[in-house]
Amino acid sequence: MAPSAVIELRCYGPLNDFLPLALRGRSFRRRLFGTPAVKDVIEAAGIPHPEVEVVLVNGTAVPFGHRLAPGDRVAVYPPFRSLDLDAVVRADPRRVTGGEPQFVLDGHLGRLAAYLRLAGFDTLYRRDAEDDGLARLAADGRILLTRDIGLLKRSAVVRGAFVRSDRPADQLVETFRRFDLATAVRPFARCLRCNRLLEPVEREAVRDLVPTRVYREQAAFRRCPQCGGLFWRGSHVARMARLLERTLRAAAGPDCKPLQ
Ligand SMILES: [Zn+2]
Repeated sequence: MAPSAVIELRCYGPLNDFLPLALRGRSFRRRLFGTPAVKDVIEAAGIPHPEVEVVLVNGTAVPFGHRLAPGDRVAVYPPFRSLDLDAVVRADPRRVTGGEPQFVLDGHLGRLAAYLRLAGFDTLYRRDAEDDGLARLAADGRILLTRDIGLLKRSAVVRGAFVRSDRPADQLVETFRRFDLATAVRPFARCLRCNRLLEPVEREAVRDLVPTRVYREQAAFRRCPQCGGLFWRGSHVARMARLLERTLRAAAGPDCKPLQ
């Protein structure tokens, strides 16, 4: 191996979470074998590609398939909170999707799934979901949220994020920040069990289906078209509303400290 067959790599912001301590926040060298795609070199360094928003090679934005040559300087950036799309070329144009974000979560993120549904986001979750199924759903355009770095590195996964926090409420804040969800929130629009959008139901029609006190106190009811569950603004709704409020406030605030 000629001594010149190396590249220089530098990762920015929270991407450093995936690196060993000694390599964080500075440039480091990697040996080059052949002319690999920049995506493979980034992942070999430990960073799952869905965490990467922009790659610059020698100062120029490149797609993930860009082949590296000896001496290249590679700068790897996470998503920016206000990304100026005109100013930078995204690492993978397939990521630029319109419409409401749709999520699929791994089996460890049940509480986060419930919270996202609570906030109105289309969220698929099964505790026994297998990696192949999750990757397929992610290939179909869903954003994969996971605590499994290996799963996130699969090439089928186009959009996704490694969930850093252990606490569901903090995970929700992370997700709001990362995907800029604050303006798209539709609280209590979706069934927490089935993920289906709730439909309004005539108050009269639920008279015999809910406790008398609830019927007397509540003006409006909604029903899940799949499981038939009835929803109204009870005390748990107030609790959940407070959680959402806190999330929106936290997501709008300064970034959390990096985990360590
Ligand atoms: Zn339901």
